[in-house]
Amino acid sequence: MKLIVHKIIKLMIMFTLIAFVVTCNFVLFLNFGHMDPDEIRNAAPVTFQNVIFMAILFFVLDEIRRKWTVERHIKRIQEGLQKIINGDFSARIPYFVGENSLNEFDIISKGINEMAQELAGVETLRTDFVSNVSHELKTPLSVMQNLGTMLQSRELSEEQRLEYAKSITEQTRKLSALITNILKLNRLENQQIYSDRKEYNLTEQICECLLAFENAWEQKGLEIETDLEEDILITEDAELLSLVWNNLFSNAVKFTEAGGTVFVQVKKEQDEVRVLVKDEGCGISPEIGSHIFEKFYQGDTSHATQGNGLGLALVKRVIDIVGGDISVQSALGKGSTFTVTIKNGKIGSGL
Ligand code: ADP
Repeated sequence: MKLIVHKIIKLMIMFTLIAFVVTCNFVLFLNFGHMDPDEIRNAAPVTFQNVIFMAILFFVLDEIRRKWTVERHIKRIQEGLQKIINGDFSARIPYFVGENSLNEFDIISKGINEMAQELAGVETLRTDFVSNVSHELKTPLSVMQNLGTMLQSRELSEEQRLEYAKSITEQTRKLSALITNILKLNRLENQQIYSDRKEYNLTEQICECLLAFENAWEQKGLEIETDLEEDILITEDAELLSLVWNNLFSNAVKFTEAGGTVFVQVKKEQDEVRVLVKDEGCGISPEIGSHIFEKFYQGDTSHATQGNGLGLALVKRVIDIVGGDISVQSALGKGSTFTVTIKNGKIGSGL
């Protein structure tokens, strides 16, 4: 109330001053004409009143205009914004004319609505990620808890005790692999600068990564065929790319049935290098194929215990970072071919 009175007094002073100045000018102007002094003296207060009246009228009209064309929209935007600030990312600010209108308030509303949509997406990703991580952590932990309880029994034979202890070690290995992958993915998603780009021999790296799976493929009796162009040099982050090859080889070996064949090819083509990993595994249906690069997605549940659904998400992130491309061709029951193309690396030949 005090504020309003203060505002009114301020306005009244302003109107009076304006009216006074205008009246004086008007009187001066009239004075220059042929009016006698009495007429001027009578006209002055009337003019003063008229100017005051006109000023108040214009002020009221301007206030109404401002309320209708500005404050109404600001209030609408403020209400929507407050909902978003309170965490309701599904809230949208209604448009005055339309989403694509050139009205300034609609342009601001559109920006805020797009931001809310983006935030909703990020929030879903975050909650999904947290619930997936909790689930993946809980499973091996509860298995370990059960095994630990069983190990406490006095009636266990030495064989059973050994078996339970082995299972606990296996679950610990899984947990550790999961945590390592989560940390790697987190680092790759937050890191913006990759300074470790050096020239190195890609062919050698692929051979080394492949050899690391020798035990696994020998145990399954798989045949490994290769067509590796010698000494292809690329300028990239070797550690990052080794994540790609390790995950692709690991999947090819994991999904190929005993006695099957895995084929790896590396070829240099003009300014790009192409790596192909082909297996004779279970294949990937189009529905599953559209999700395989998502975090924690596991299409083939029969192999779920051997992974955590983060491998291809990591692969995709690395490929995006190095500015390459990855594609997959697959036929159910026949096998899959993953093709990685690295475009931006400085490619050369060691020969
Ligand atoms: P994980 O192998 O740990 O389950 P990945 O992210 O590496 O997770 O793979 C995600 C899913 O993609 C797998 O669960 C599987 O359904 C599918 N997939 C990946 N590679 C192959 C492959 N070579 N053959 C068949 N399916 C595959």
